[in-house]
Amino acid sequence: MHYYCFLLSKPCFNHSIHAMLTVEHHFTCPHCLAPISMILDLSVSPQKYIEDCEVCCQPINIYFESEGDNITYFSSNPVEQ
Ligand SMILES: [Zn+2]
Repeated sequence: MHYYCFLLSKPCFNHSIHAMLTVEHHFTCPHCLAPISMILDLSVSPQKYIEDCEVCCQPINIYFESEGDNITYFSSNPVEQ
């Protein structure tokens, strides 16, 4: 059985849980204030990592908590450089 994997943007066998628990989250970049979106993997909660803004390429501290397929807490803060 094929599952559509949103991380790889194609069907795959290994990310079936991701296909069910990934959501696209829209927020504002803390650096350039541009509206951006990121794919969050809700299968593991909480998560904290650094991701670069797709517009200004500056690093953002991402932290989120989730319950099932709902995001219960999300924060995006600029990384001190
Ligand atoms: Zn930005």
